[in-house]
Amino acid sequence: ELRTPLTVIHGYLDMLDPEDMPEWSPMLEEMRRQSQRMNQLVEDLLTLSRLEAREELPRERVDMRAMLATLEREARALSQNRHRIAVEDAAGVDLLGSAKELHSAFSNLVSNAVRYTPAGGEIQVRFARGDDGGAELSVRDSGYGIPAHHLPRVTERFYRVSTSRSRESGGTGLGLSIVKHVLNLHQGRLRIASEVGRGSVFACVLGAERVLARGAA
Ligand code: ADP
Repeated sequence: ELRTPLTVIHGYLDMLDPEDMPEWSPMLEEMRRQSQRMNQLVEDLLTLSRLEAREELPRERVDMRAMLATLEREARALSQNRHRIAVEDAAGVDLLGSAKELHSAFSNLVSNAVRYTPAGGEIQVRFARGDDGGAELSVRDSGYGIPAHHLPRVTERFYRVSTSRSRESGGTGLGLSIVKHVLNLHQGRLRIASEVGRGSVFACVLGAERVLARGAA
């Protein structure tokens, strides 16, 4: 119900060629941008309500080598060479859970790191073991950072530290709510450390019961 009207609008917008009507071109451009944004909002809202309706997710082997390769590709595509990007697999294990939902959580963090780090900055994705036998996927950036008093609220729906910067960055304000839900469904948690002007670390912390040794193959 939410998707269909947008599909129709997209379809008609795509048929309009700005070159046929140059005086309309800036408006067309803006309409395309806004309908794209609306599309993303709808997709994120649907993801959230899908997650909220579930008590359990599939328990499958999540191939973390493939996951890290995908995250690296996504980070590079989003960054367009504006950042230095490093991805490290220090854990050498796989995870037990939903590959699809974990990917959505991790890639939200990667996308935030790219969007809230000015050009020339650095982004490090690291998968490592925890002391308790668990594992964590952390995304560190050298970006704007978040003032301490905002930290407890950033995972709330639509909560944004700086409205103008967040809007410009093209997000929906739902990314971190999705991350939190996905981690809850894996009995994990999100750890956030951030310093204004220096950057942030967002870490998905998962317990030992979510760690799988990699097979010999
Ligand atoms: P958005 O779509 O606005 O990025 P999120 O739920 O992903 O929504 O994030 C909520 C808010 O937290 C963002 O609007 C931004 O203010 C802040 N934030 C998230 N990630 C970062 C980051 N890596 N660096 C700085 N601020 C961040």
